[in-house]
Amino acid sequence: MSRYVYSFGAGRADGSAKMKNVLGGKGANLAEMTNLGIPVPPGFTISAELCNAYIADKTYPPELKGEVETALKRVEEMMGRKFGAATKPLLVSVRSGAAVSMPGMMDTILNLGMNDAVAAALAKETGNPQFAYDAYRRFVQMYGDVVLGLKGSRSPFEPLLAAKKKAKRVERDIDLPAEDMKALVGEYKEALKKLLPSGFPEDPQAQLWGAIEAVWRSWMGDRAVAYRRIHHVPETLGTAVTVMAMVFGNFGEDSGTGVAFTRDPSTGEKRFFGEFLVNAQGEDVVAGIRTPEPVALMEKKFPPAYRQLVETYQRLEQHYKDMQDLEFTVERGKLFLLQTRNGKRTGAAAVRVAVEMAEEGMITQQEALLRVSPDALDQLLHPMVDPAAKVSVLATGLPASPGAAAGQVVFEAHEAFEWAKDGKAVILVRAETSPEDIKGMAAAKGILTARGGMTSHAAVVARGMGKCCVVGAKAVEVDEAGGVFRSNGRTVKRGDWVTLDGSTGRVIDGQVKLVEPKLSGHFETFMQWADRERKIAVRTNADTPGDAKRARDFGAQGIGLTRTEHMFFEGDRIAAMREMIVARDVAGRKKALAKLLPMQRSDFEGIFTAMDGYPVTIRLLDPPLHEFLPHEPDLVEALARQMGISAEQLAAIVESLREANPMLGHRGCRLGITYPEITEMQAQAIFEAAVNVAAKGVKVIPEVEVPLVATVAEFKNQEAIVRRVAAEVFARAKREVHYLVGTMIELPRAALTADEIAQAAEFFSYGTNDLTQTTFGLSRDDAGRFLPAYVEAGLLANDPFQVLDQQGVGKLIKLGIELGRSVRKDLMVGICGEHGGEPSSVMFCHRVGMNYVSCSPFRVPIARLAAAQAALQDKGVEDRTGATV
Ligand code: PEP
Ligand code: MG
Repeated sequence: MSRYVYSFGAGRADGSAKMKNVLGGKGANLAEMTNLGIPVPPGFTISAELCNAYIADKTYPPELKGEVETALKRVEEMMGRKFGAATKPLLVSVRSGAAVSMPGMMDTILNLGMNDAVAAALAKETGNPQFAYDAYRRFVQMYGDVVLGLKGSRSPFEPLLAAKKKAKRVERDIDLPAEDMKALVGEYKEALKKLLPSGFPEDPQAQLWGAIEAVWRSWMGDRAVAYRRIHHVPETLGTAVTVMAMVFGNFGEDSGTGVAFTRDPSTGEKRFFGEFLVNAQGEDVVAGIRTPEPVALMEKKFPPAYRQLVETYQRLEQHYKDMQDLEFTVERGKLFLLQTRNGKRTGAAAVRVAVEMAEEGMITQQEALLRVSPDALDQLLHPMVDPAAKVSVLATGLPASPGAAAGQVVFEAHEAFEWAKDGKAVILVRAETSPEDIKGMAAAKGILTARGGMTSHAAVVARGMGKCCVVGAKAVEVDEAGGVFRSNGRTVKRGDWVTLDGSTGRVIDGQVKLVEPKLSGHFETFMQWADRERKIAVRTNADTPGDAKRARDFGAQGIGLTRTEHMFFEGDRIAAMREMIVARDVAGRKKALAKLLPMQRSDFEGIFTAMDGYPVTIRLLDPPLHEFLPHEPDLVEALARQMGISAEQLAAIVESLREANPMLGHRGCRLGITYPEITEMQAQAIFEAAVNVAAKGVKVIPEVEVPLVATVAEFKNQEAIVRRVAAEVFARAKREVHYLVGTMIELPRAALTADEIAQAAEFFSYGTNDLTQTTFGLSRDDAGRFLPAYVEAGLLANDPFQVLDQQGVGKLIKLGIELGRSVRKDLMVGICGEHGGEPSSVMFCHRVGMNYVSCSPFRVPIARLAAAQAALQDKGVEDRTGATV
């Protein structure tokens, strides 16, 4: 029994789909398909555990050689052919494949096992020398590029091929006659020898081992490393290596190759969806070099193979209970499956497929919920091009990944990355993308390619990233060197704005208005299922009635944070606010506050009305006051004029408000404590708004919140003001509303003394933005300059301002909840920092017993699903197929 090598073929395999960690996704599924009796070319897979060891010290166990030899012999027997032989030679492909699918990020070598004698034998046997020498030419090129590392600017092959095609006046590679293909092989080898004196290895065994090692090395290639970082794939997985007998889609017009999905990966619709190229090898489809035909056309060209493909895809989907992404080849009319895996899909497709599969009875509703990654919902909520906008369409391509994006055009991946770093929105425009472009694609708002189909690299990768993408826009001629693209007689330069519509395939001139999306019936059903499972409520952070309404449409059950300061930045409010800040005495401050009162009151009335029946947490003023003041000299002058004081006087006031460390300075409840009239005004606005709308029949549930509390004394000071003002307002209005007074927990001291604070506070809301800042001692405004380096170096798993640090900050949260509830059993606890909409953090909040999470309106559905998944995890419910997408 082999330790490192697992064979498959002729209806029997050593491995199975359960062995992804050993065989990689590709190897495991090839084994599974073989066991199911699906036609798969025979082969064997080398365990992924050898990959990391090889990378560490460039060695592998000595017994591997013998195991590979035995497994190869078995393939030879099954195929009735011999590797490297001068009659009936066996060719193989050497393929990468990790436990997690990383499409196109690692290397594959096709047609391996060729030299002059083998090519001649193949030409003779098939009676098709053109095919034999085309395969040979492709192999030398692939081997040189991938295994010998010539890929990129050093690669000599493409120019030689282009020159040959030009000389022979043919357009397509496959139209070159056999003798020219043969001559090209010679030219390739010569060029290769000039660059690498060891030259091309003629010995098939040496080729095989070179290719195996190259696949291992590709695990650490730039694009694989970048992909893993973006998708959080652990480096320790390593890649397996699958060696498989070649079957040929390029034998002639009775052969072909294709890629297909069992359901539409863009919309999720239940229809067989794919692309197919006659007389081609797999790489031609994936690389997007030729634009393929819809798979349905295969029915006419290869009826029995098509029927078998349809039967096979239905069987595979039933077997895996998920949408499959298939690669197949037809060799002289006979069908072979080369790969199956759970297909990458858009967020909308993920939801639709999950809902419909549950409705079809293939999976349970709970499995459907576990199957969609909460982040995938983000895409459903993406904006689209305003249907009412007048647009000028430059070109139309294939709608590869939905949503819309506007940005400035760049032509190089590194440029996309650099410009995005400077805060620019960019659209990456390429003739076709290659896996090297991954970093630039991640940085871009949208991707446009002139070539390629729906399964091209750009399309697959963009969908995985949830990024708007248009491919195969044939009218677009990309001139990367000239820094322009031309389309239908128009020219777009680097830096010009375009808008992409990934849902219709339109490429639109300029920056077009985008509008918010409408949600589908499948989405509604899915979210209802989620709501049935989840235990914690989901609220929203909203500062305006508009935001509150949108969040309610997304399913928010109240407001967990209204940042009242945001209301002060608009229009004439800022003037009154500034007047309040620069006032030198209480009387001056009160005069200015009196101007702000009606504005705040009407805001609160709007918000309470929008949230009729739901609680609304309103936070008292929080930020350092100087944030409201002008600092530029001309702005200081203008404000001084407006206020009737000299510019010098105002400059002096601004200067006196300057703080070395404003985030730890005069902010939060410290403002209301030193200027109680601010708290009084805000409380008055809150309660007057509450009684006003209550009089109109609106059910109001105000929760007044004190920010940045460190001690219970601070809280009590502010609470007393709030309760006194409430009583006064109720007495005047002869109407009472029920309300709570609670606190933010966003300083370590507050968490550590939560038992004291909870004696007075009726609720806690964790401000994890500040709590992360103060627990780490990391400035939330400046950490962006060096935190990415920490994450890159692996010193932190994630940016703690995005993903809650459960070990550190989380410990304080847990402690605070325990202490708080030790004195107030029914203490209501929530979170309103950015983490309230991040899935892993939401799951943490569920586990520590919070009552709700609160997040920005667009993240409400994400939080609802994450909360449902956390509840299912608690119950021990799992997706039996393990098919989270
Ligand atoms: C927080 O600190 O987490 C919070 C929600 O408040 P802000 O971001 O307004 O400081
Ligand atoms: Mg805060």
